[in-house]
Amino acid sequence: MAEPRKKSGLPPGDPRHGTSNGYGNHFCRCDLCREANRISHAAYMKRIRDEGRLVGKHGTDLAYDSGCRCDECSEAHNAKSREYKRRRRQAG
Ligand SMILES: [Zn+2]
Ligand SMILES: [Zn+2]
Repeated sequence: MAEPRKKSGLPPGDPRHGTSNGYGNHFCRCDLCREANRISHAAYMKRIRDEGRLVGKHGTDLAYDSGCRCDECSEAHNAKSREYKRRRRQAG
């Protein structure tokens, strides 16, 4: 039996709905999974801040490097790595 290779989301009634596992590993974007991700990310970020591990501001590559994976920081990181690759190509 061939499993579809690119699978995203969980079937209805799956017990993993409402967990950050469902969101992060199964790419489910239902309300329950999104909420679970939001909560676990908030808790994670709170821990990082409490430990003083977050360096710099959100939306910077520095914050991404210190462990934040929020949308702003991910975008900053992506933009930087895109820029880096483009320069490498141009330098040839
Ligand atoms: Zn879900
Ligand atoms: Zn961030």
